[in-house]
Amino acid sequence: MILPKANRLTPAQLAEVTAIVGEFGCRIQPIVGAVRTIYAIVGDERDELMISRLEGLAYLERIDRIQSPFKLLDIRSDLATHQITIGGVTLGRKLLVIAGQCTIDPKNPNFVYETAQAVQEAGAHVFRGGVWKPRTNPYAFQGDDKSLDILMEASRRTGLPVDTEVMDEDQLKLALAAGVPMLQVGARNALNYSLLRQIGAAIAGRSTIVLLKRSLHMGPLNEFISAAEYIANFGNPNIILCPRGTAPALDGYRNHPDESIVPLLQEKTWAPVVIDPSHSVGKAAYVQACALAAVAYGADGLCIEAHVQPSKGIGDDPKQAVTPDVLAATVRLAKQIWALRRNAAAS
Ligand code: PEP
Ligand code: MN
Repeated sequence: MILPKANRLTPAQLAEVTAIVGEFGCRIQPIVGAVRTIYAIVGDERDELMISRLEGLAYLERIDRIQSPFKLLDIRSDLATHQITIGGVTLGRKLLVIAGQCTIDPKNPNFVYETAQAVQEAGAHVFRGGVWKPRTNPYAFQGDDKSLDILMEASRRTGLPVDTEVMDEDQLKLALAAGVPMLQVGARNALNYSLLRQIGAAIAGRSTIVLLKRSLHMGPLNEFISAAEYIANFGNPNIILCPRGTAPALDGYRNHPDESIVPLLQEKTWAPVVIDPSHSVGKAAYVQACALAAVAYGADGLCIEAHVQPSKGIGDDPKQAVTPDVLAATVRLAKQIWALRRNAAAS
């Protein structure tokens, strides 16, 4: 990571730095902040000669080398002070609540509008709604482009920013063109490195945020953080990690709940962690306990499936979505746990 003395390099300085690292098989990726731009050296930055040639440039403040598989996401990275803000919440300062339907039913847009308003009243800052769905059964409803209009209309009506999953480049383009501010990478695609690269390239230079789910098949935490690094290394580090339960499933819960990994992730990465209790436990009755445990473990936020009439929903909603009153109670209790943790840390 290269930190210039000024707020950014001039074009001539950038060209000189790029030429030097290029000789050693590396490239430069600018990371543009509100005030300051820093420059990641992408590639193997261990070459001493390359580093000393860079250190010889009078306009550079410092060259930081982090020997980590995820140089940008690493807690020791210069990006550790990077802040992500959505729906009026800066992650880490206030508990972020994302809530809404698993799946938008294009035949019932009113459920979406009603749910968006209800989750807003219950304290959500972001409305989630699945436009395209990764379904295990190929004959199950797979989503519909039309649902994107419904999602954006819900956003206009409530003023809430929205989150939806994209599974391929066409969906990615449609979502960005519609102005979706938060893209979800689902558990099934969190190991799809081509998609992660496409998303990273598409959101570079934008304010878009990615909610990256933990794959069902991820074990070591480095695997999860490295998936986020795939996206960040194109220049936009707005990535939120979202554990949502992994395999193997327990008897009773849909997945193996993994909210307990929050402190482990926070030791390794500065990326905020938002827990999805809904897919972890897979049944509405257990969602609140998992959500509260997540906050007790130090989660920066929650992503909860909610629906005004779960039994009339589609996708996961009939079994997994909580009603707005349960969401409101969960948010209230979660905020109390958040405050207890803050007070304990301050005293
Ligand atoms: C979802 O959020 O509805 C979803 C399909 O999530 P996951 O990718 O975690 O299964
Ligand atoms: Mn779902």
